[in-house]
Amino acid sequence: MFDKYRRVVDYLRISVTDRCNFRCRYCMPPQGKSLHDADESLTYEELLRIIRILGQHGVNKIRLTGGEPLVRRGIVEFIHNIRQINTIKDLAMTTNGSLLGKNRMAERLKQAGLDRVNISIDTVDSADFADITGRGNLDDVLLGLKSALLAGFKPVKINVVVTEKLSDHDIAYFIAQVYQYSVAIRFIEYMPLGPTPISPGKSILMVKQMIEQASSRMLQSEVVMYGNGPARYYRLPKAKGVFGFITPMSDHFCHKCNRLRLTDDGKLKPCLLSNQEVDIKAALRNGCTDQNIYEFCRQALQNKGLKHQLDYNTSEKFSVTRPMFQVGG
Ligand code: SAM
Ligand code: SF4
Repeated sequence: MFDKYRRVVDYLRISVTDRCNFRCRYCMPPQGKSLHDADESLTYEELLRIIRILGQHGVNKIRLTGGEPLVRRGIVEFIHNIRQINTIKDLAMTTNGSLLGKNRMAERLKQAGLDRVNISIDTVDSADFADITGRGNLDDVLLGLKSALLAGFKPVKINVVVTEKLSDHDIAYFIAQVYQYSVAIRFIEYMPLGPTPISPGKSILMVKQMIEQASSRMLQSEVVMYGNGPARYYRLPKAKGVFGFITPMSDHFCHKCNRLRLTDDGKLKPCLLSNQEVDIKAALRNGCTDQNIYEFCRQALQNKGLKHQLDYNTSEKFSVTRPMFQVGG
């Protein structure tokens, strides 16, 4: 599929639930929020139908996100069923990792056909981690990371949203990880998507300097990685893993965006940072044809802007109506 600027769109990100066992300060309001009723979320059958149809029109990558995708019941079987759709070549998940180490979850996901996982870990200081995530327990997440590595996901990526909490101690931990494992550690600029009391802290340039100072080595120029989306990757000499930097705010990558998004309650979104939505659920539940579904997706892509409107200076004037946990980062 193409959008109106002739960008190829071959990647669907699906938020399978707006529920989460964490309350990250930059994503969910601290007091929580009213969650969709179960019947407001698209069923797995409805999602599989959409994936099948889009698969016939060039979509070959799927990412499952949320909310926390692992809190939705039946997720392992859903993955197994997506895997039966042979047009889908790459199936990934973004998770907070807290449940990966429980009930052999990482192994079961791998066996069901999940190709890759991204695990979010902003800091390895237990108290700061609990502060950022509201309810998160760092040990559970580190166990989840270990389980993902043992289960054989390649590569395992770690998402680090850069906030005021990122410390030299965290950087030392991440450097040790890239020397030990073939992981990709990606530092993501914080996006001001709501009234959240957390500061972005360091710039990406400062993070790069912290890595070079702590390792006494220079980051080597960009390397290409499979599943390479908006991140720019660098390697420390002789490291197995890489560092990635994702800069939606200071250096956006909209010109090469290949994504369409689907919220758990059935809204197609052309961009994480757009308020444009196309309701596909009503159509799905009113007996529409496969061709109708495809037309809805094309319509959503017609709304895909050339560039998003959010920056640190204009976030007062432009606000994204759906919080992150409802769209999936
Ligand atoms: N619950 C899963 C998790 O935390 O990985 C998946 C959903 S979460 C919304 C997806 C990603 O978005 C996570 O890596 C999270 O850190 C990131 N994220 C959430 N809010 C963000 C924000 N305001 N700015 C930048 N990244 C954000
Ligand atoms: Fe939950 Fe992920 Fe949002 Fe944190 S970032 S509250 S783990 S959905």
